[in-house]
Amino acid sequence: MKKLFLLCFICCSILQSQNEIDLSYYLPQDVTYNQNIPTPKSVIGHQVGKWHITHDKLVQYAYALANASDRITIEDRGKTFEDRPILLLTITSPKNHQHIDDIRKEHINATNGNSSVNTSSMPIVVYQGFSIHGNEPSGANAGLLAAYYLAAAEGDAINELLDNVVILFDPSFNPDGLQRFAYWANTNKSINLNPDPSDREYSEVWPGGRTNHYWFDMNRDWLPVQLPESRARIATFHKWLPNIVTDHHEMGTNATFFFQPGIPSRTHPLTPKLNQELTKGIANYHAKAFDKIGSLYYTEENFDDFYYGKGSTFPDINGGIGILFEQASARGHIQESDNGILTFPFAIRNQFTAALSTLEAAKNMREEILAYQHNFFKNARSEAAKENGKAIVFGDEKDAAKTYHLAEILKRHQIKFNEIKQDFTANGKRFKKGYSYIIPKNQKNTRLINAMFEKRTTFQDSLFYDISAWTFPLAFNLDYAEGVSTNNVGTEVTKLEFKNRNVTGQSNYAYLMEWHEYYTPKVLNKILNKGLRAKVAMKQFSLNGKQYDYGTILIPVQNQKLNSKNLYSLLNDLAQESHVQIDAVSTGLTQKGIDLGSRQFRNLQKPKIALIVGDGITSYDAGEIWHLFDTRYDITVTKLDTKTIANADLSRYNTIIIPNSRTSGLSEVNTKKIITWVKNGGTLIGYKNTLKWFKSKKLAKLDFKKVKVRAKNVTFEERGNFRGAQVIGGAIFEAEIDRSHPINFGYKNNKIALFRNTTIFMKPDSSSYNNPIKYTNRPILSGYISKPNLDSLRGTVPLQIKRLGKGKVVAFTDNTNFRAFWYGTNKLLMNAIFFREEL
Ligand SMILES: [Zn+2]
Repeated sequence: MKKLFLLCFICCSILQSQNEIDLSYYLPQDVTYNQNIPTPKSVIGHQVGKWHITHDKLVQYAYALANASDRITIEDRGKTFEDRPILLLTITSPKNHQHIDDIRKEHINATNGNSSVNTSSMPIVVYQGFSIHGNEPSGANAGLLAAYYLAAAEGDAINELLDNVVILFDPSFNPDGLQRFAYWANTNKSINLNPDPSDREYSEVWPGGRTNHYWFDMNRDWLPVQLPESRARIATFHKWLPNIVTDHHEMGTNATFFFQPGIPSRTHPLTPKLNQELTKGIANYHAKAFDKIGSLYYTEENFDDFYYGKGSTFPDINGGIGILFEQASARGHIQESDNGILTFPFAIRNQFTAALSTLEAAKNMREEILAYQHNFFKNARSEAAKENGKAIVFGDEKDAAKTYHLAEILKRHQIKFNEIKQDFTANGKRFKKGYSYIIPKNQKNTRLINAMFEKRTTFQDSLFYDISAWTFPLAFNLDYAEGVSTNNVGTEVTKLEFKNRNVTGQSNYAYLMEWHEYYTPKVLNKILNKGLRAKVAMKQFSLNGKQYDYGTILIPVQNQKLNSKNLYSLLNDLAQESHVQIDAVSTGLTQKGIDLGSRQFRNLQKPKIALIVGDGITSYDAGEIWHLFDTRYDITVTKLDTKTIANADLSRYNTIIIPNSRTSGLSEVNTKKIITWVKNGGTLIGYKNTLKWFKSKKLAKLDFKKVKVRAKNVTFEERGNFRGAQVIGGAIFEAEIDRSHPINFGYKNNKIALFRNTTIFMKPDSSSYNNPIKYTNRPILSGYISKPNLDSLRGTVPLQIKRLGKGKVVAFTDNTNFRAFWYGTNKLLMNAIFFREEL
């Protein structure tokens, strides 16, 4: 008993002493520190690691450092969705600061393909970023120490480092997520730190702090740049073209520390071999530093450099070297692990050590890495020269907004493009002047262009950490053609602008709006919200010499809540705001097809939408939908938590969306409630795994194909890879569509590209008209799929719509809203909502 007491006493002392850590635990002790530089504690009120830093305190410290140090300047580059500042510290010697813009210009100039560049006196540029996943906070907390060290350390070593390195210091890649996690970890902390993994401190509530405000994984957005945090970051990246970019993460509590290189065979083939060799060279510095502090680590066993949308991979296609760090997570302040008690300060110290070893490597490998970047762009230039005369064209006369948004991504990546000189046909598609852009291949960022536009279906490895395809024109479902002649190149687009659209005139009879433009759902929703009547055309017709497609919206002028003048004024505002054209017509008599008074124009009702969120629901998929409605279409959705459905009055909604989910997400009571609601006339829309729940609860008679893959000649060691190869991590598939079906209104081609990251294969309905979207016989457009899965996919369908009582159930196997950049399939969801009565 005495012994037990003694043991308890010692344990408690250890645990309590975790609160008493001082700066010497973290910082090198072989240098002196400038007393005029504020320590983190003097500003934030506690020692680093005692509490999780909140973003507001982090901002406070960043400004305090910048004020006190002539080695640091600070820049506010914009705001997150929650209005937190997106800061950047530029850290280098005061001497370099005096002519920082010349340094930057010289650095960029060296990437412009000049044949000779003298790198001997050029500083190397290192971009250090922390905690892009907000609940992996040891990075951002270590950032406080790294910034302090760089500002306060004295002596020859730091002076030499800062003379040779320009550090772009991004203290928090994900401010909103960091704040959310800090709240959780801090509010659940006990004075007597408790390492029991079952303590509440270590299991965050849904959706957790990993993601940003709309629950996006920000470490997938470096290439699509759809989110404000990435937009600021990518602007800095292209402004500086850093040589090294580091990305500090956390992984499972029982792990140790990982630094790249990752699995060599899973490097994207467009990344030069030398990139990985230099990564290995840099790794030696991390290894040495970790050996010194006695921390375990590993390399090359997992993580990869394939998808260019990640922070450690994006630099690799832009002449830089991206480095991923992964630290075992304390996920709070202290936790038991396979490697003993893992404390938050220990995790922070490892991250701090890696931040410093990166800079040490950068300083020592400076000329080699600068030369690598120079050659990267020089070689890219000679590849581009071989493609002189060739270009890529994309566009859609019927959808200027989607065309604009793809062009916007190119602009953010400093890819040059032009208007087309005249209308022309390529790849069987007509490209219209004013509605198309053309990208000459012979330009600086030609490798990035290839990475964004290529379709790839063969791979060295069959395992992917993330998606295997992201071909942008397919994600946008835009017409495009590669290898077209630069004879079609018109003036360069220096300022990208939306096409001006409006109402063609005031009418006393009716207005017509075709449904192809991306923002038409936003317009229609606002019209219905005003209590105005609108109808949808179930058939095509022509009027005043114009062909109107399926899905055209009719807004009659008479008998509306607004008089004709006010209606015109409203529609004109909406047309301009949403960049859509609305035609004023003075007659209901068409030249061909249905007249405007036909019953084939169906009345539309205002959507009242609930989105199921919370435990059991995949937060990414839910966030994509929330973001889509809230930021693109200005449509209000009620986020209905799985915990509160039981108390909610479902009759307030005519549409309920259940994103991808674990089937356990909904209780029996809630299930019954939803079934009753559908039977009373509701439209229930579900995605991916939710379809299995639909089937098991008899909400919809869905039939799935079973894929059996037998393991032949697979060893025990190979079993993981064998199973992994059957995963569809994310690839792009082609489907044929029946354009006369309301789910496809607004699509002008007979084929569509779909994003799929599931192995749910749904059998078609026996009536062909109930299968408006069908995979083609050779459906893979881009990305990896195993042969058994590809064989299974053929002849299946991504969508079924089933009746239940007075309502219906809409079942999607594929994600129509993937990561905010799949603009091309958003309309399928909008159609399911606005035309739900006609499906
Ligand atoms: Zn992470």
